[in-house]
Amino acid sequence: MPLGQQKLSHTGHPMASFTLHGIPVSRGISIGRAHLLTPAALDVKHYLVAEEALEAEVARLQNAIAAVHKELQDLWTDLPKDAPTELGAFIDVHVLILSDPMISEAPLDIIRTRHYNAEWALVTQIDELSAQFDEIEDAYLRERKADIQQVAERVLKVLLGTAQLVPIAPGDDEYQPQMVVVAHDISPADMLQFRDRSFIGFVTDVGGQNSHTAIVARSLDIPAAVGMSQASTLIEQDDWVIIDGDAGVVIVNPSALVLDQYRGRQMAQTRDRKKLLKLKKTPAVTKDGTHITLLANIELPDDCPAALESGANGVGLFRSEFLFMGGKGHQHKIPTEDEQFEQYKKAVMAMKGRPVTIRTLDIGADKPLDPTEHTALNPALGLRAIRYCLAEPQLFLTQLRAILRASSFGKVRILIPMLAHAFEIDQSLAMIEQAKAELREAGEKFDPDVEVGAMIEIPAAALSLPMFVKRMDFLSIGTNDLIQYTLAIDRVDYEVAHLYNPLHPAVLQLISMTIAAGAKAGIDVAVCGEMAGDIKLTKLLLGMGLREFSMHPAQLLAVKQEILNSDLTSIAPHTRKILRAMEPNAIADAVEQLQSM
Ligand code: PEP
Ligand code: MG
Repeated sequence: MPLGQQKLSHTGHPMASFTLHGIPVSRGISIGRAHLLTPAALDVKHYLVAEEALEAEVARLQNAIAAVHKELQDLWTDLPKDAPTELGAFIDVHVLILSDPMISEAPLDIIRTRHYNAEWALVTQIDELSAQFDEIEDAYLRERKADIQQVAERVLKVLLGTAQLVPIAPGDDEYQPQMVVVAHDISPADMLQFRDRSFIGFVTDVGGQNSHTAIVARSLDIPAAVGMSQASTLIEQDDWVIIDGDAGVVIVNPSALVLDQYRGRQMAQTRDRKKLLKLKKTPAVTKDGTHITLLANIELPDDCPAALESGANGVGLFRSEFLFMGGKGHQHKIPTEDEQFEQYKKAVMAMKGRPVTIRTLDIGADKPLDPTEHTALNPALGLRAIRYCLAEPQLFLTQLRAILRASSFGKVRILIPMLAHAFEIDQSLAMIEQAKAELREAGEKFDPDVEVGAMIEIPAAALSLPMFVKRMDFLSIGTNDLIQYTLAIDRVDYEVAHLYNPLHPAVLQLISMTIAAGAKAGIDVAVCGEMAGDIKLTKLLLGMGLREFSMHPAQLLAVKQEILNSDLTSIAPHTRKILRAMEPNAIADAVEQLQSM
């Protein structure tokens, strides 16, 4: 059905359009068809198969089904003579299910028509069948759903063992309507698998503005809205959906008029983005001649080309934990020293001499190493980041050696997350020295003067800065966690997302104190949390004295434009007034005023 025409209900009436409100997390407007991803579907890989590889993918699924047939036959043959008769009957049922066209043919059609990979096609079909089974009144028949799922599990297991060699189709291929993912929740690691851009937008029921899932969506530069509470139950498969990622609004089955308005806005945004590209080589200098360093946040070395494309002066935050994390369907595996070294080296080489700040493993909270592992009662306050690394010294030392080895290929800086105590800083520095000694002994090369910095993201750290500036070469303010811990709100929990406020006077004080302490001690201070990429806050941060911003490449040129329009001589006194203000409304008004200065 063409977009703009009203979808018809089963009674032939136009489907009502409705709007959902949630939390905006990634800018821009997407217009596409809803693709509902159930938790089961999230357990498998998703990618669109290119036209020329479709038959190979169909054959992959057929072969897997044939292999399971054989498996079941072997089971039959090997049944001991005294085995209970139900066991044979049970295998028969599974053979029947496997031979049914609903399993042996329908998923093949899904591959051919929707271009889904084999696993995704199978899970989509199973989900549709399961929904039909749920409506059956006969309890015996309803229970057959479990058998279907068990058969599907067997096929999936075989598929997982067959390497995916087919070329992946780009998301905007004309044969595939552009799809918007609608899911209850998506983990940060699962989000990363969507980097091939098969989808043009994301909507989830849960999640906060600065949850790592939201951060990854922003880094993919794909419009997204989270905290939509009931989206995955209210939106139906193939509904037309507009995501307004700036407002956190989702419009389902829009009227032609609404659609026209959004199309217009979408076009204007595309024009603005094109204009920004002209600033790529322009140095980030304020009107009064102050140079500002603009750095990129990356999750994987493959993000480096986008960082260079945005004109970044280097990498200010490489979230190394994404090399370690397993998604729901993907087994997590701790990379070896050599595997890590290759990845860090890849990033260093890709940045062609520009500095690369590698943050040591920040595992825990919403970034578990293994999502199936038991998690602590309060994971954000638990064994996270440096706490985890100091509790697992071999894991930490392995990472430090790998990072240090990469430092012989270009400028590398080490950044330690979540420090609060002096002994944590001292132990981390001692571990770095130990890693260096081990490398010396092994005859490995590294930069002996590699700089080491601290993330300032716990209020206790921002309130004990002398302890940090004395020991560290640089500081980087993690505003995402600093806000979470200062305001005592879980950044992942959408029920408290409205309390997440970067302009709370306590947050502003802590940031401003950190910038001032760094300036006094003569060490660099960056902001690498999401505040650095928010153009509404650029002038405020400049006014506080910030000279280093680290953000997703997609945000960098817009921030640069703000910097080019800023005059520190007028901004600084106005910012001092904001820092003295204690009333939220007065602060918000003054920040808005600052933006237009
Ligand atoms: C932060 O806390 O601001 C930060 C940059 O780190 P992360 O978002 O990965 O916790
Ligand atoms: Mg953090």
